[in-house]
Amino acid sequence: MTRTNPIFRVPLSSPDITDVERQAVMEVLNTPNLSMGPHYQAFEKAIADYVGVKHAIAVSSGTSGLHLCIRAAGIQPGDLVLTTPFSFMASTNAILYEKAVPVFVDAEAVTGNIDPQQLIQAADDLMSGGKAAERWLPKKGAERHGDLKAILPVDVFGQPAEMDAVAEIAKKYHLTVIEDSCEALGAGYKGKQAGTLGDMGVFAFYPNKQITTAEGGMIVTDDDGAAEMMRALRNQGRAPGDTWLQHSYLGYNYRMDELSAVLGAVQMSRLDELLAKRAQVAAWYNQRLGDLPMVEIPEVVATTTRMSWFVYVIRVSPQIDRDGFIHRLAEAGIPARPYFAPIHLQLYMMEMFGYQPGEYPVTEDLGNRGIALPFSSVLTEDQVELVCEVLGDLLTD
Ligand SMILES: *Cc1c(COP(=O)(O)O)cnc(C)c1O
Repeated sequence: MTRTNPIFRVPLSSPDITDVERQAVMEVLNTPNLSMGPHYQAFEKAIADYVGVKHAIAVSSGTSGLHLCIRAAGIQPGDLVLTTPFSFMASTNAILYEKAVPVFVDAEAVTGNIDPQQLIQAADDLMSGGKAAERWLPKKGAERHGDLKAILPVDVFGQPAEMDAVAEIAKKYHLTVIEDSCEALGAGYKGKQAGTLGDMGVFAFYPNKQITTAEGGMIVTDDDGAAEMMRALRNQGRAPGDTWLQHSYLGYNYRMDELSAVLGAVQMSRLDELLAKRAQVAAWYNQRLGDLPMVEIPEVVATTTRMSWFVYVIRVSPQIDRDGFIHRLAEAGIPARPYFAPIHLQLYMMEMFGYQPGEYPVTEDLGNRGIALPFSSVLTEDQVELVCEVLGDLLTD
């Protein structure tokens, strides 16, 4: 988006890798087991123990994890999934892979998470044959079949969605809840771990996440049947007891390799340290930006008993040209990004489902005003100071 190619003075994001990680990866490289060895199971156990679930299933990415959850939930072509347009594209794409229909519910303005009141209304409306049912459910006699099957909330920016409300509406209509916690490993909701608040949850380990495996993801669940199915699907559809060339299901190669897994296991042993460092960086930003005019800083709500800072996203007031502002930051050596771009306004979403600008006003407003600032656990107070100085100068220009 920037025409110039400036040398940035701070990194937009950065993994936090130490000699312990480097050595662990080197040791695995010196063994013959680069896939399906002991390390993916050790990493699975570390996550299962940390968040307190029966099953953790390591996969090749957060996106493939979400896709396996959609498969395990039995979602068929034409089925509906209630989800949010204020997210990273992957949460919706996982639904589209099975030719199911994402039905969007707008975000609420404080956290950017799915709006619980509107979620309840949307589910009630679909189930009672209201307007939403007319738009989304197949008409009588139509070739397309489909039912409302699931809710896929996202823990946006590391802050859990209002999961009690999600659980209540899911229970009322027997819906599966798939929690996209790809941005929220370690976050707490009313004292409970993010990722464990629905039937299945997914974490992601791309290099900008709280912990990284380079590429990778992890599904967590207490559901024995779903876990068995997802373990089979990630490994080319091999059910327990199948031989290497026997495939009970149409599966995928969504396995996590051993180099990623050992990296993840070491990172996991440092999770509390990494989250504390990220919280410190967020606090440095809050101190410096809290009183700036025309800037809103992120708000942590009372239900978030532990924030797992993934990004630091400010909102500028509507009179500021956000994209121009990001460009000027870049020219001053500070990288920044709009975050998120509303999913319903991606071209293929508008073409596939007829979504229009204006349909999800809160999502669009957040999408228009949000700026992700440089953020990671390796950022120093001096670097934060520099970002805030440049930002303050540009605002008072
Ligand atoms: C990072 C992320 C994912 C998964 O990303 P991968 O790159 O596939 O690991 C999914 N949903 C959200 C909201 C994310 O931020």
